[in-house]
Amino acid sequence: MTIDYRGPQCGCGKSGCIEVLCSGPAIARRARGRLAEPGCKDSIMMTLSGGNLERVQTETVAEAFRRGDSLAAEVLKATADFLTVWLGNVIDLLEPDVIIFGGGIAELMSAYFGHIREELSHWSISLGFALPKEKEQPLMDKSGQVLQDEEHEAAAL
Ligand SMILES: [Zn+2]
Repeated sequence: MTIDYRGPQCGCGKSGCIEVLCSGPAIARRARGRLAEPGCKDSIMMTLSGGNLERVQTETVAEAFRRGDSLAAEVLKATADFLTVWLGNVIDLLEPDVIIFGGGIAELMSAYFGHIREELSHWSISLGFALPKEKEQPLMDKSGQVLQDEEHEAAAL
């Protein structure tokens, strides 16, 4: 789903789709772009990458964020803003009862769930929709058994 038609080209062939703007590689690419700007060399991400922008990965952003790096926080907030636009479209289209985020990026982005929740009132027109309280729960199969990481992909097929 495209959320910025002027956005970068994705491997799927579309421009500015959710994957090219919010995936792990997208977060790393956004961080490298910011680090290349003047005045951003003091970021912890530069230290963690040995000053080599090509070595900045999603994990670099996550570690810098955990250490309180303001630029890493800006990168994640920008990602949260794109996620919010996308979620607003999904909510208006499907009116889901529950929204589930999974995977490592979800854990990384969880610091911004409150921000996303607040901003959704601007990006969704579905009246009466209320986001449920955030819960951290393991994924389960239909019988209630907790799925292990390797079973998540199989269950998604
Ligand atoms: Zn795409």
